[in-house]
Amino acid sequence: MRYISTRGGIDPLGFQDAVMMGLARDGGLLLPEQLPRVDGAVLARWQALSYQQLAHEIFSLFIDDIPGPDLEDLIECSYASFSHPQVTPVRKQGDIHILELFHGPTLAFKDVALQLLGNLFAYVLARTGGFMNILGATSGDTGSAAIAGVRGKNNINIFILHPQGRTSPIQALQMTTVLDANVFNIAVRGTFDDAQSLVKALFNDLSFRDAYRLGAVNSINWARVLAQVVYYVYACLRLRRQGSASIDFSVPTGNFGDIFAGFVARNLLPPGCIHTLILATNANDLLTRFVTRGDYSRGEVIATSSPSMDIQIASNFERYLYYLRDQDGARVRQDIEGFAATGRLDLSACTERVAADFRSRSVSEEETIATISDFYHQHNYLLDPHTAVGVRAAQDFRDPGRPVVCLATAHPAKFGEAVARAIGSEPPLPPTLADLANKESRCMVVDADIAAIRECIIKNALR
Ligand SMILES: *Cc1c(COP(=O)(O)O)cnc(C)c1O
Repeated sequence: MRYISTRGGIDPLGFQDAVMMGLARDGGLLLPEQLPRVDGAVLARWQALSYQQLAHEIFSLFIDDIPGPDLEDLIECSYASFSHPQVTPVRKQGDIHILELFHGPTLAFKDVALQLLGNLFAYVLARTGGFMNILGATSGDTGSAAIAGVRGKNNINIFILHPQGRTSPIQALQMTTVLDANVFNIAVRGTFDDAQSLVKALFNDLSFRDAYRLGAVNSINWARVLAQVVYYVYACLRLRRQGSASIDFSVPTGNFGDIFAGFVARNLLPPGCIHTLILATNANDLLTRFVTRGDYSRGEVIATSSPSMDIQIASNFERYLYYLRDQDGARVRQDIEGFAATGRLDLSACTERVAADFRSRSVSEEETIATISDFYHQHNYLLDPHTAVGVRAAQDFRDPGRPVVCLATAHPAKFGEAVARAIGSEPPLPPTLADLANKESRCMVVDADIAAIRECIIKNALR
């Protein structure tokens, strides 16, 4: 399988090069040249597979430059860190199925992709003899999952900037208590936006970027999307075994990464297996406006109890746009340039096509908290606020004739404050989180100043 850019400006690449490139050189996002599809016979053969075996089958459709046994090792290694034998188990609660994606080391779904990406980076670097310095900014979940993905690995250093005192205390400790020599946490005296723009400025300094081989771990890397395709198919196969040939998914969405993986899975499986993808947003309703009215226009970011979805530009949206524009890279470039200039993109002519793929609803703060409370009292099961957004949307759109699977993207204890607002007390901390406060931690505190951050990286980077 070769990879191309959504903007049509690069020569096709193999999978390993696509992983190392991250963002396409022409500014677009990388996609496989064709989306593969399997038939019913293949699906029948996949029924009995473990999560890891299924991942191997699916990855093999997209990767032809890693030998089979190596790929198997990479998968084994990546999911050995998960605490549940099924990796992403499905649990039925009343008439809703919860797909639990939070059994990885940092208790959020980003581990599913970042455990694999860390191992892929190490694998490619070991073979090419190269090195990389990963640089990223985080408001919480991504930083800890990225650090957990590459801690202790050869040829990789990782620098994660977070806004000092503005993540939750648990999220900060999940990063700063990782003491491996290749991990550098930088608390920036400023906001998340300050940290993010410092990182962008360093990536835009091309001589610095090339000299230090800066690598990114944000959700634009194709390997992250690919890793996430697996659990959609895994859930489909589990429900098929129970007699459901067609199911819906509800996905709490921020950057369009996770739900785009659902779109790839929907195209991979025989028609009808995945009936509807429900795109659930919090008060930041950019993507809901897009699905319902074709209005993709930037608003103000609103802080909610589901902070990992508080975004006003969906970095993976361009991948879906590419299909909406019939794989016309020039058209996509024109759209994205127009959006960058005006903050708006009118896609109202496409709403019928979009409606065939997604339904969408924005869920308010009050509804989110009420959903956590109601679900807890009905099923004695705690939802984290992100998951609650997806469950609330699913309750509206569910068809009595088809099961709906809601993606549970974080463990409720990671967002204890919101859970306490719903049920009156914080959930008990699982052991991995309870231990954090007693652990040694390490972190540099630096002004939100480009020269200071650059110096801090130069002092500690691989070269
Ligand atoms: C990142 C994140 C999301 C949103 O995922 P996208 O791929 O950005 O749509 C939802 N829930 C949690 C807990 C997250 O960390």
